[in-house]
Amino acid sequence: MFINEHFLKLSAGYLFPEIARRVSVFAQENPALAPRIIRCGIGDVTEPLPPAAIAALHAAVDELGTRERFRGYGPATGYDEVRRAIAEGDYRSRGVEIADDEIFLSDGSKPDASAFLEIVGAGNRIGVPDPVYPVYVDTNVMAGNTGAADDRGAYAGLVPLVGTPANGFVAEPPAEPLDLVYLCFPNNPTGAVISREALERWVAWANRHRAVILYDAAYEAFIRDGKAPRSIFEIPEARRCAVEFRSFSKNGGFTGLRAGCTVVPRSLEGRTRDGRTVPLHGLWNRRWSTCSNGVSYPVQRAVEALYSPQGKREVAALIEHYMGNAAILRRALEGAGFRTWGGIDAPYVWVACPEGVPSWDLFDRLLRETQVVVTPGAGFGRHGEGFFRVSAFNSRSNAEEAATRLATFVVGTPRTSRRSPLGSTSA
Ligand SMILES: *Cc1c(COP(=O)(O)O)cnc(C)c1O
Repeated sequence: MFINEHFLKLSAGYLFPEIARRVSVFAQENPALAPRIIRCGIGDVTEPLPPAAIAALHAAVDELGTRERFRGYGPATGYDEVRRAIAEGDYRSRGVEIADDEIFLSDGSKPDASAFLEIVGAGNRIGVPDPVYPVYVDTNVMAGNTGAADDRGAYAGLVPLVGTPANGFVAEPPAEPLDLVYLCFPNNPTGAVISREALERWVAWANRHRAVILYDAAYEAFIRDGKAPRSIFEIPEARRCAVEFRSFSKNGGFTGLRAGCTVVPRSLEGRTRDGRTVPLHGLWNRRWSTCSNGVSYPVQRAVEALYSPQGKREVAALIEHYMGNAAILRRALEGAGFRTWGGIDAPYVWVACPEGVPSWDLFDRLLRETQVVVTPGAGFGRHGEGFFRVSAFNSRSNAEEAATRLATFVVGTPRTSRRSPLGSTSA
């Protein structure tokens, strides 16, 4: 058979395998330091699942073991009561009009963001954040929506929506019209949140250009700022221009269990080449019922349990835990003289490298001198270069230990005055 050659355009290996490779080389070459390694790199949760979710899983498994309560295939887009729990808990209880059947259960936001491209046609002008969650870019490359990568890993055909310290890492809508735009707030990797006013400008812009915004709200639960929007649908006109991705990975700790959902309003339309409009809700529904049999029953019950009073308290405690880590790490980095962003409404602290130091170099130095693993900004696109990301997903003791080591890191020049744990190899 012939292969999908768009895969061959993917530039450098995915970021996280490269981090894993460098960490493993370091550990092999420095066996004495290997046990000291603290991972603040990949954005995976560390704390166990909320007891409410565990109880729901056990109960659902027991149901499946009885003749009376056994269930086979469920609805491809999720059980009604689970969709209702989400629509009620995340939207209607906050005054946002979302119907139960506008919620589509899935096995996570990453698969949703990827699958969504199945209902997106060819020839769209696509805007992606830069710095970016790499999934938005790579899935478009695989789908054939881009040209080749240039020497800095930017793909022809994708329009960068650039975040910098000057705009607080919140890009304004571009002057040029686009057809499809990815936004992610609270942001991975920069930890930025968008204000209601800025989001209103995006929604107005999208409606003017008949663009669709794919709004990734995976970190919504981490918002502390009472005024920041938790959903794009808090702006009512977004019902005509937006899809929202939600994930239970970061709030409920479901990274291994796997569950998320996509919100597709019935009023959202796309266009055909000959100028007709078509509701995306029907296309997405068709995509799910044809290509999937949905999310496993016990996992759906676990999702539902996150919306019970006990589940909500336990999720709030998890968020509190990670945001406590974020504050500890942010203070340590600032104490060391780094300039930081984020870490207030998001579990990521975004940090500027010292002037002129490439992010992979700083990654290597931090690994050698502190054994703290961070994520180099270069892995998040051209405008991620010059920064690195520190994840707050950790145990409290690891976050405190990482903070202690980072606080004594000498930002400007390599540590030559003091004997580093590695002696000569640290120069
Ligand atoms: C972690 C994360 C997700 C969640 O992905 P899942 O597939 O639901 O685990 C989505 N978007 C962003 C930006 C993330 O960082």
